[in-house]
Amino acid sequence: MPRRQLFVTTALPYANANFHIGHIMEYTQADIWVRFQRLQGHEVHFVCADDAHGAPIMIAAEKAGLTPQAFVANIAAGRKPYLDGFHIGFDHWHSTDAPENHTLSQDVYRKLRDAGLIEIRSIEQFFDPAKGMFLPDRFIKGECPKCGAKDQYGDSCEVCGAVYAPTEVKNPYSVLSGATPVLKTSDHHFFKLSDPRCKQFLEQWTHEAGRLQPEVLNKIKEWFTVDEEGKGGLGDWDISRDAPYFGIEIPDAPGKYFYVWLDAPIGYLASLTGHFAKLGQDVDAFLADPATEQVHFIGKDITYFHTLFWPAMLHFSGRKTPDRVYVHGFLTVNAEKMSKSRGTGIDPLRYLELGLDAEWLRYYLAAKLNDRVEDLDFNPEDFIARVNSDLVGKYINIASRAAGFLAKRFEGRLSATLGTDGDAVITKLQAAAPGLAALYDGREFGKALREIMGLADAVNEYVDAHKPWELAKKPEAAAELHEACSTCIEAFRLLTLYLKPVLPALSTKVEAFLQVAPLTWADAETRLGAHAIGAFQHLMQRVTTEQVEALFTKPEPPAPVPGGEPIAAEITIDDFVKPDLRIAKIVKAERVEGSTKLLRLTLDAGEGRTRNVFSGIAGAYKPEDLEGKLTVLVANLAPRKMKFGVSEGMVLAASHADEKAEPGVFVLEPHTGAQPGMRVR
Ligand SMILES: [Zn+2]
Repeated sequence: MPRRQLFVTTALPYANANFHIGHIMEYTQADIWVRFQRLQGHEVHFVCADDAHGAPIMIAAEKAGLTPQAFVANIAAGRKPYLDGFHIGFDHWHSTDAPENHTLSQDVYRKLRDAGLIEIRSIEQFFDPAKGMFLPDRFIKGECPKCGAKDQYGDSCEVCGAVYAPTEVKNPYSVLSGATPVLKTSDHHFFKLSDPRCKQFLEQWTHEAGRLQPEVLNKIKEWFTVDEEGKGGLGDWDISRDAPYFGIEIPDAPGKYFYVWLDAPIGYLASLTGHFAKLGQDVDAFLADPATEQVHFIGKDITYFHTLFWPAMLHFSGRKTPDRVYVHGFLTVNAEKMSKSRGTGIDPLRYLELGLDAEWLRYYLAAKLNDRVEDLDFNPEDFIARVNSDLVGKYINIASRAAGFLAKRFEGRLSATLGTDGDAVITKLQAAAPGLAALYDGREFGKALREIMGLADAVNEYVDAHKPWELAKKPEAAAELHEACSTCIEAFRLLTLYLKPVLPALSTKVEAFLQVAPLTWADAETRLGAHAIGAFQHLMQRVTTEQVEALFTKPEPPAPVPGGEPIAAEITIDDFVKPDLRIAKIVKAERVEGSTKLLRLTLDAGEGRTRNVFSGIAGAYKPEDLEGKLTVLVANLAPRKMKFGVSEGMVLAASHADEKAEPGVFVLEPHTGAQPGMRVR
C-alpha cells in the first residue's frame, strides 16, 4: 500500500472550561485511528487547539478579573494532565488566538469577499446600554412570549419549549447588567451560502463517495431542502460581531470582528501551520499535495458547521477541502445525558486521581465505538465486566500462564517449533490481520475488539486442550510443554499488536517483557521463533467495584465553616444577580407594639421615597442605635403582608444558623462613603 499522508484533527474545545468525559471520548476515538495509521507506516499529523474567541469567554474573563488572553492561557495550561493521562498523542496543540490564525482567517475572508460571497446587511439587534455592547441571544432573558414563564433565555423557553426571536421576549433584560436592552441597528457581514455556486459545490462535495457517513448525508439533504412555503434551504450566515468582542478583526471594517465560528475551524490550519513550523517543513506544499488527506473527527452537534460552512469557506477561498468528516454521537453515563449542573458524568481527572487505569477506559470506549453517529453509554457494570473478563481474563492471562514455565524450565527461551495445534492457532491469528486492519481503518473499533477477543478465546481453548500445568508434571512431556508455552507467547505478541492502537502504554510494557522492537502492523506476518524473552512483569490489574463506585461518589464537601452551617449549593453568576441589593439609610427605627422580635425600619434607598421594612432584630439592637446608619436592602423582594403592615424588602444581617446562639445578630453596614441607592454586587 502506498504511504498515506494524513492531516487529522479533533474538534477544537472551547477554552472556557476544563475537559469533560465527552472530550476524552472524541480524542480517544481519533487517537486510536491515528495510532493504527502510524502502525501501518503512514505519515500522520494529528493536531488540535483551544477555541479561544467569542462573547462567553470575553465575559467569563471579565468576571474573573483577567484579560481574555490570560483567561484562555490558564485553561490551556490545564490541558496536559488530561491528554498525557489518557495517552492522547496530539503532535501539536495551538490556539485560535495565535498569530497564524489571525492571518489565515483574514486571508480566507478576503478571498471570499473577492469571490463576491460576502454581503453587508443592516440588522436590528438588542443592545445593552449599560454595558455598551450588543447582546448574544443567551445574554437576554425575560418572559416567554408564549407561556409567560419568567427568566427565560432570549431564544427559547425551558418551561414550554417555545423557540422565538429575542425581540419577542416580554420585559427583556440583560443578563450582564440587568438593564433593559434597546434595539439598535448595525451592519453585519454575511457569508452568502445561499449563492447558487455554494449550493452547486456543496451538493457535489457532500455526495462524493466516502466523504460522509450515510446518516450524515441524509441529514444534510434535509438542510438543502426548500419546502412548499419556500422555507428551509441554505441560508446566509452572519459572520460578524460588533466590538467589544474577543476575536479577530475583519479587514477594512473597523469595530467589526469575525464571529467565533468563522475562525474556529480555520484554527485547524493554524495548528497544522504551527506544527510544520516546529518540524521545519513547508505546510503549503503539504496541503497542496493531492496525496494529502484531511480528516476531521467531530461530534454530531457541529455537523452543520463542518459539512456546509467549512468546506464552502475553504473551496471558495481556493483551499483544499476536507476529505472526510467523521461524526460521532454523544457519550451518556448510566443512560443519562451529561449535565454539568447536576454533576453527573465522570470527571476525567478524578478518574485518574483515583488510580483507575486510563487504558481500561480507552478499551471500554473502543469496545463501544463504531462508524455510525450513535450515542454510546458508559455503564459501570458493563465496564467492570469488559475490563475484568475480556481484557484481563482473556488476554493478559495468556501471558501470565505461560511465562512462569518458560522462565523456570527453559531459561526464557521460546521453542523454534510450535507443533501442529500451535501452528494452527498462530496461523489463524496471523490471518486475521487484514480484516482487523480494515475494521480499524473504518472506525469499527467495537467489531475489531470483538474479533480480537474471539482470537483470544481460540488461544485459551488451545491452552485448555494442552493443559501446560499438567504437562509440567510429566518430565517426558517437556518438549510439548515448551511448544505450548511458546505458542501462548507468540499468540500474546500478536494480540498485543492488534490491541496496540487502543492500549499504547500496555503495549510498551509488553514489548519490554518480550524483548522485541516496537511492534508495527507488518509484525503480524512474522514469528518470534527461538527468541529469548524477559522476566514476566505485572501488566494490568483487575478493576474493583469499589474503584468504580468511588468514581461516582461525590468528593467530600468542604469542611463546614465555624458555627456549623455548611456552604450552600453552588450557584451561577446568573443566580447571584437576581437579588437586587441596595445601600439604604435607616431614617427611622421603632419598636413594634405587640412584637418582641420586630423593629419597624423606615429606609431610604435613593428612590425618592422611603420604604417600610420589618426586621427581626429587636433582640439585638436598640432602635436609637440604628437610626442614621447605612445598611444593605434586598430591594426587589416581593412585598410581604405581615400582621403589623406590609414589609417592602429585607435588610441583611449575619448570624449563626441558630440566631439566638452567641454572639447574636449583626446588621450589615458598608464602609464609609457608600450612598443610599448604590447597588451591591
Ligand atoms: Zn414558555
